[in-house]
Amino acid sequence: MSKFISLINNVLSVFYPDLCVSCQQVLQQNEKHLCLDCMLHLPETNYHLDHSNPLTLLFAGRVPVKETASLLFFRKGTHTQHILHSLKYRGNKEIGAFLGEYYGRKLAESPLYQDIDLIIPIPLHPKKLKKRGYNQSEWIAKGLSAGMNVPYNTSLLVRTAFTDTQTKKGRYSRWENVKSVFAVTDHDTLRGKHILICDDVLTTGATMEAAISKLTENGDVTVSVVTLACAG
Ligand SMILES: [Zn+2]
Repeated sequence: MSKFISLINNVLSVFYPDLCVSCQQVLQQNEKHLCLDCMLHLPETNYHLDHSNPLTLLFAGRVPVKETASLLFFRKGTHTQHILHSLKYRGNKEIGAFLGEYYGRKLAESPLYQDIDLIIPIPLHPKKLKKRGYNQSEWIAKGLSAGMNVPYNTSLLVRTAFTDTQTKKGRYSRWENVKSVFAVTDHDTLRGKHILICDDVLTTGATMEAAISKLTENGDVTVSVVTLACAG
């Protein structure tokens, strides 16, 4: 940053100081997005070091997943809720990239995530994308990519504009509908690769399951899953 811009930023920060996303305290100059105290007390799962964690079990018997991990436990009224709210509803996409990179550096050191070829974010429904202006998962992917030094791609897995009235249909056709929400644009590029698919939160895993089922339908793609937060 040039000295001039840095000076302007210093002047502006007197009037509009950056606040910690989680506790709203004024950030110090060496802090970004989260204050040191909040960084030190993040409710981290450390699932990236444990193959048999509860998230991997969530997908067992549903779709083929190699590894599953999540940075934070999600509980109401906690740091995680403030962070996710800021990321999804207050336009703070940078916090997604920031925590994505933070977790990416940890994943890069985990023996379970050494052979990832490509990171793919869960695409947002076009209507939601238009409303929000950005896909929060894409910003997480961007951060993970920087932290792991692995490329990310936003065009190979897309969301179709397909919508329907799911309530009137049976269970099987409902699942068929969910699956057709996603499309793979170029399967040849994915063949033989280990894909890390990412999203902001993992709850029931239904959306993730649909995306994974699409990516793995030919049986020649390996998928692992990472999210910023999970129920816990
Ligand atoms: Zn804080």
